[in-house]
Amino acid sequence: MKVLLNGRRGRVGSVLGPGLEAAGHVLVDSLADAEAMVDFTVPGAALANVQDAITAGVPSVVGTTGWDVEPVRDAPVAVFYAPNFALGAVLLMRFAAAASRYLEAAEIVELHHEGKLDRPSGTAKLTAQRMAGEVPIHSVRLPGLNAHQEVVFGSAGQTLTMRHDAISREAYTPGVLLALDKLHTLPPGLTVGLDALM
Ligand code: NAP
Repeated sequence: MKVLLNGRRGRVGSVLGPGLEAAGHVLVDSLADAEAMVDFTVPGAALANVQDAITAGVPSVVGTTGWDVEPVRDAPVAVFYAPNFALGAVLLMRFAAAASRYLEAAEIVELHHEGKLDRPSGTAKLTAQRMAGEVPIHSVRLPGLNAHQEVVFGSAGQTLTMRHDAISREAYTPGVLLALDKLHTLPPGLTVGLDALM
C-alpha cells in the first residue's frame, strides 16, 4: 500500500518507516499519491493532518495521543485511532478485564520514560475502565524506562501479577501493520482501539 507517514523522523516514525517498507508498503511524500495516511506526530498536528487526509479521501491510521477525535467521529472516510499499538498491551487489557471478575481487588502501576507528559497513561485508564470495580492507578516517570504496565490482583491468600513491557519502539509496528491491513474493512468515521481489529 502507498503510505504517507507523518512524523517519519520522530522516535516512533524512524522505526516504523523501515518496518512498513520491510512489510512491502511504499512510503510516499504526499496525500495525492497515498492510499493511507499514518500519523505519529504531536497532539497539535494530528487533527489537521487527519482532516487533510479526509479531504483527500485517504483513510488514516493514527497513533498520536492526546488529540481531539470528536471532529472526525462522523467523517466520510475511515479514521482508525489506537492509543496503544503494542499487541501485548491490548492483550493485557483483555486478560485483566477477565481476571477482575474473579479476584477481589486490583491496582495498576504504569511506568514510563520521563518525557511522557500525561499521567496516568491512556492505556492505564482504559484498562481500569474495562475491569470490574474501582481500580487505583499509580504512575511512575523515570529515565531508563520506556512503556510498562503492571496489573496486580489480590485476593485472600493469593496474588496475580500481569505485566507488559514495551522494550523498544519496534513494539508498535505489528499493530500499525494490522491496522493498515484491516483499514479497507472499516466503516467511514472513527474506530478506536486495536481491540476492534483483533
Ligand atoms: P517525537 O519523537 O517527538 O516525533 C514527533 C514527530 O512529529 C517528529 O518527527 C516531528 O517532525 C513531527 N511533527 C511535529 N509537528 C508536525 C506537524 N505539524 N506535521 C507533521 N509532523 C509533525 O514523538 P514520538 O515519540 O515519535 O511520538 C509521536 C506520537 O505518538 C506522540 O503523540 C506519542 O504519544 C505517540 N505514541 C503513540 C503510541 C501508540 O501506541 N499509539 C506509541 C508511542 C508513541 P520533526 O522531526 O520535523 O520535528
